Amino acid sequence: MRTTTILVILLIGLACFGAEVLGAEARADKPVAHLVFLVSEDPSNYEAHKTIPPFAQMLRREHGFRCTVIQGEGKPGAFRFPGLEVLKKADLLVIFFRRRALSPEQLGLIRGHLKAGKPLVGIRTANHAFSVRSGVAEGYQKWWEFVPEVLGCENRGYGPLGIDVSVAPKAAKHPILAGVKLKKWHSKGSLYLVKPIDPKATVLLIGSAGDKAEPIAWTRSCKGSRVFYTSLGCPDDFKLAQFRRLLVNGIRWTLGKRAGPADARWKVGTAKVRITPAKPLWMAGYGSRKKPAEGTLHDLWVKVTTIEDAAGHRAAIVTADHLGWPRVMYDRICAELQKRCKLGRSQVMLASSHTHSGPVLRGAIYDFYPLDDNQRAMIEQYSLGLEKDVVAAVDRALGRMPPATLRAGQGSTPFAVNRRNNPESKIPEMREKGIPIKGPSDHDVPVLAIRSPRGDLRAVVFGYACHCTTLSFYQWSGDYAGFAQLDLEKAHPGMLAMFYAGCGADQNPLPRRSVKLCRKYGGMLAGSVGRVLDKSMRPVAPKLQTAFEFVTLDFGDQPTKEELEAISRKGGNRGRWARRLLKKLEAGETFPKTYRYPVQVWKLGNDQLWITLGGETVVDYALKFKKRFGRNTWVAGYTNDVMSYIPSHRVWEEGGYESGAFYVYGLPANRWAEDIEDRITAAVCRLVAKVK
Ligand SMILES: [Zn+2]
Repeated sequence: MRTTTILVILLIGLACFGAEVLGAEARADKPVAHLVFLVSEDPSNYEAHKTIPPFAQMLRREHGFRCTVIQGEGKPGAFRFPGLEVLKKADLLVIFFRRRALSPEQLGLIRGHLKAGKPLVGIRTANHAFSVRSGVAEGYQKWWEFVPEVLGCENRGYGPLGIDVSVAPKAAKHPILAGVKLKKWHSKGSLYLVKPIDPKATVLLIGSAGDKAEPIAWTRSCKGSRVFYTSLGCPDDFKLAQFRRLLVNGIRWTLGKRAGPADARWKVGTAKVRITPAKPLWMAGYGSRKKPAEGTLHDLWVKVTTIEDAAGHRAAIVTADHLGWPRVMYDRICAELQKRCKLGRSQVMLASSHTHSGPVLRGAIYDFYPLDDNQRAMIEQYSLGLEKDVVAAVDRALGRMPPATLRAGQGSTPFAVNRRNNPESKIPEMREKGIPIKGPSDHDVPVLAIRSPRGDLRAVVFGYACHCTTLSFYQWSGDYAGFAQLDLEKAHPGMLAMFYAGCGADQNPLPRRSVKLCRKYGGMLAGSVGRVLDKSMRPVAPKLQTAFEFVTLDFGDQPTKEELEAISRKGGNRGRWARRLLKKLEAGETFPKTYRYPVQVWKLGNDQLWITLGGETVVDYALKFKKRFGRNTWVAGYTNDVMSYIPSHRVWEEGGYESGAFYVYGLPANRWAEDIEDRITAAVCRLVAKVK
């Protein structure tokens, strides 16, 4: 029995020290503070030797702390914690053992820790940790005063079994209770009688059992050392998320600045999946395409960053090197993420780069190309696989969420050109001669940087409002956005670079059509992001709010049977669109009059707004919302569902390609109703009000 116990001590010790030594240089998320846990194995010590090691593992995995768990050995009257010298350099001492006498040297190490002003957390039996009644061996000491002097309470035995936990008066907003779900919290343990406690202590939780009510969690200061104590801590308590959260928050609070930057209370996971089609699928994005893809310039990716704020609210950012998520895929991915990961629609952001060198996906632009049955079957199969890959990647990212900081910033780069207001062929000459290029354009480069608490970059999410249409040959690529992501990932090994398209439906990278120019624009964008990363960026407090709605948009004029018949006699994509719609009419179907359009608003921290809009959104939307809601506003287009162009009122009135072109995506109308901008604006304003 004794041999087994010692073996356990050694294994725990090795596991902890081993992880430190091996992980110190190699891991991106280096630990921030060193925690030392002292436990004993004792039939009356609530299995601390079984509950603390996995809890410490979790602290290391999810919060980046260095943790050393030391299980003591010896008799109660002559007890010893092997390797306790480690305390000299530790940041926090956690005590969970009972009635043990230690040598003066070991007690001196614990007193020295407190004397240095370093913090202490006591769990349950800590309130009689050194209170030995008899049998203290020679050369060992008890320390009864530890209870009143350090923990600030008494130990007057047990109250009834079964504790109803409630928040103490005025304690609800204490940071230790942030994200701790207090409703219907019942602990199976017995109530410790601890009164009177230090009148200067801040009581956080009250436990009620029978006719007794006692403080069960509080903080206090012991000569400059922050102390947190809870009398909870039975094995069943450790099974409760709210108890573990209470302990984590207590540990963070006592550590204060030693716990790392305040905004390191974000948790972030990442994942990526290569999605370059293995088969020669048709490429999505130009009506002039004549055949499927013939090779790969560089790989296409789906990348995922999952974030969780200090209160436990989660969300997933997904970016993809393709034209945009068709509605059918968006709906199915959301349904699956709800089921598997408990993420609602507001928490899921499916962004895309709108590269014109990615694959055709199912349920969209089927009229745009002369696809045969075999091609359609391949597209269906690829798209189903992609849906599964996205859900699995989000699930994987959520499975490992170490702490992180979020920082926001903004750069700029000028290669986007308003393609409606400038002739493409004249751009090189205009640039050369310094002739002003007509707007409107949006040259901002929003940047979200995600770092480990020590500052190593883990992910960067950035956007730009410009079509990914530099290239039009038959090689898979993420276009300029693909090159920008590659450049950034090369400059920061281990980091995930994620691009989303802004409101660039009327913007092109000009001049274009060569790999050289594509690399150049990618380099300009990556350079802009790099300069933002090099500067000091705005910290984003660990607060996340997410809101979503489908706003109903009316279709404008819809094609009559006669019009469709006339168009159907033409060839090409418009003819295919008209023939498919005619078939529907002939089958007795009527066309829908409206479309449910996705609008999403996130607030990160106290002031970073992130608005996402579906469809190919023209630049006016970004400019308008940034003007209305302030500079700390990011606006993404092409998010969650890409169903058509989304003109502003100006573009709708001016007419032209971006005001309609419904035959591209196949919707049964010629254009949207005149009030499209008003409806989208009203929806955005409603959602922004929700996250205020
Ligand atoms: Zn487009």
